[in-house]
Amino acid sequence: MPIYVTSATEHALRREIVRVGKLMYERGLAVATEGNISARLSADRILTTPSGLCKGMLEPDQLVVVNLEGERVSPASGANRHLQPTSEIPMHLEAYRQRADIGAVVHAHPPTAIALSIAGISLDECMLPEIIVFLGLVPTTAYATPSSTENVRAIREFISGHDAIVLQRHGTLTVGRDPWDAFMKTEIIEHSARIALMVRQLGGGPPLAATEVEKLLAQRQAMGLMKPNDPAEFRAIYGARDPNGQPTFTTSPG
Ligand SMILES: [Zn+2]
Repeated sequence: MPIYVTSATEHALRREIVRVGKLMYERGLAVATEGNISARLSADRILTTPSGLCKGMLEPDQLVVVNLEGERVSPASGANRHLQPTSEIPMHLEAYRQRADIGAVVHAHPPTAIALSIAGISLDECMLPEIIVFLGLVPTTAYATPSSTENVRAIREFISGHDAIVLQRHGTLTVGRDPWDAFMKTEIIEHSARIALMVRQLGGGPPLAATEVEKLLAQRQAMGLMKPNDPAEFRAIYGARDPNGQPTFTTSPG
């Protein structure tokens, strides 16, 4: 069901987006004017950060409201009169179109995750237990020109089945119930990428056994987080590496 939000909640969402933008900037997940954050106000209204401003220094009144075509629909205020929606809004809108269950989208440029994508190192190489349970697999798209329709096409096949995506040589896209939920997934990706890099620097390490992945997927299902394509995708990655025989992923989609 699309989420309907009252104006009082819009006020709270504006403050939450500003808070997330500040954290994203201070933690180096986006620099200068990079990154963008949006939240769903109603079935056809999206609140978004404007283009060209540092996400660490936003004011709530600078955010703008767009429709599902990306056209600005909010009246111009003194704070945002000359501001336009983020140029990456088509990517956000694609996520909202495909995912009626989400309330927010965060796009960031986490440096370690980007470096790994350029080096061709998948985050699946060093999957941590908590990521399997709470985030699932994090696919990496083909390279696409930022702020173009290529980006929309790049995420199109992934966003229905994943809450977190790495955009090759560019950044990340995460979705969630609200801006804070989506932002935490961005943080988890970068944290995981740093650990993957450290493991490489230490000479590498063994993959998690398929039998252990299976137990974590059971937890994911019990928490209602399982996506329909999860078992097949995990099987493709971990099953081939299991030194103890055939994978037994029997968990049905939940
Ligand atoms: Zn970007």
